[in-house]
Amino acid sequence: MTDTIFHKIIRREIPADVVYEDAHLIAFRDIAPQAPVHVLFVPKTDIATLNDVQPDQAQVIGRLAVAAADYAKAQGFDENGYRIVMNCNGDGGQTVFQVHLHLLAGAPLGRFGT
Ligand code: 5GP
Repeated sequence: MTDTIFHKIIRREIPADVVYEDAHLIAFRDIAPQAPVHVLFVPKTDIATLNDVQPDQAQVIGRLAVAAADYAKAQGFDENGYRIVMNCNGDGGQTVFQVHLHLLAGAPLGRFGT
């Protein structure tokens, strides 16, 4: 098992601004926000990257998306919209190797890809 900064947040060994938690996942504000609202949704199941998700773990990823959408709706971002992002490995920009989903909201985000 890889022990990342996110595992330490899950275990409450380092502080984070937690906005949601349940038996399966935790959500907390990104320390270096890239939008007015930038929340990370992290499963409690150890999975390093999207590459490592097994077919029987599809629910782990699905729960992240549903939790992010629920949070966005609760905060009133559903109508104007928001973005979810999952980076994978080096070219994808992944820096923490516990799979996670970024929720970005609160302003027009523009196009992306370069
Ligand atoms: P990645 O680049 O792996 O897709 O996303 C990792 C994210 O974790 C980055 O946006 C980074 O700002 C955030 N991050 C890194 N260390 C910490 C931390 O200690 N606390 C919080 N809240 N976010 C962190």
